[in-house]
Amino acid sequence: MSTQTIERPDATTDETTDDDTPKYFHYVKKERIAESAVMGTHVVALCGEVFPVTRSPKPGSPVCPECKKVYDSLRK
Ligand SMILES: [Zn+2]
Repeated sequence: MSTQTIERPDATTDETTDDDTPKYFHYVKKERIAESAVMGTHVVALCGEVFPVTRSPKPGSPVCPECKKVYDSLRK
């Protein structure tokens, strides 16, 4: 029996397109976001979505259902 510590992920968005389609918040670990900002690499969200961190999420955007599901399971 072990205790697993999960770092609380930040929410970020997939901003790979410039259209006005609704965007989800994706949960991404903070360390990944920092790394992406420095290295210019893509991040992998909890749901498996891969995208570059370019902007902060807009308040009120819906949370990615897959990320939320994974995040909730990690919190237990
Ligand atoms: Zn997601």
